[in-house]
Amino acid sequence: MARVRSEAEVKTRPDLPPAPGTRIGILGGTFDPVHCGHLVVAQAAFARLALDTLLFVPAHLNPLKQSQAATAFQHRLAMLDLAVACQPGFFVSAMEGKRTPPSYTIDTMRVLRARLGAQVELFLLVGLDAFREMKGWKESAAVARLANLVVFPRPPYGLGELGEIMPRTLPAYRYDEGRQAWQETAGNRRVIPLDLPALALSATSIRARILAGADPTGLVPPGVAEYIVAHHLYQADRP
Ligand code: ATP
Repeated sequence: MARVRSEAEVKTRPDLPPAPGTRIGILGGTFDPVHCGHLVVAQAAFARLALDTLLFVPAHLNPLKQSQAATAFQHRLAMLDLAVACQPGFFVSAMEGKRTPPSYTIDTMRVLRARLGAQVELFLLVGLDAFREMKGWKESAAVARLANLVVFPRPPYGLGELGEIMPRTLPAYRYDEGRQAWQETAGNRRVIPLDLPALALSATSIRARILAGADPTGLVPPGVAEYIVAHHLYQADRP
């Protein structure tokens, strides 16, 4: 049976793969649990953006979900490890588990930029559900200065809403028809709308289905389903 990760393992594992390359995608989230919707988006983004590495960065504690109890970081990490097995270029970084919560994206992006250098192209992948909230993130404009943002649909929110969301979220960007992206007016950063496939799946609905007695097989990668069953996750109501 796959093991829950120990606290010592979280602290000592590498934050980055040995040779991450120069085009790096970052998908942050709570991943409680990681599900097929995350993987479909990650695989499509990896191909469409010609990434060398896609980093999955689970939040220790999402600042916007502090009132909701999340499953232990060590379980969420173990499930992510199972989900990315046999997916070349995918890497799970426990860097937010090493810091004092809450997990702010700006802190993660600063560490990545410092560790990887100015020449590396960073692409922060953000679903529209999260992007709609970005104005409320800590130092959101600074986040956008550290990486290109790749925004993708998350039903019920579609890319058509960007025209309304962009001016209030990142006012210093203009839409560039040629590049089909929002371009920073005084710099080189972009906000790239990408029509990635979105499955009608959420971690919330998966937790609710398991609580109601459903088998998670088919909603999450096979190893993750086995892990959930073996560790009796999501079978009891949260506090
Ligand atoms: P919860 O239901 O607990 O809020 P979630 O399913 O939304 O969780 P998160 O871990 O919060 O999952 O999501 C991380 C990122 O993955 C976000 O950018 C979110 O938009 C994206 N994402 C999650 N599920 C899907 C999906 N089915 N299709 C496309 N993007 C998704």
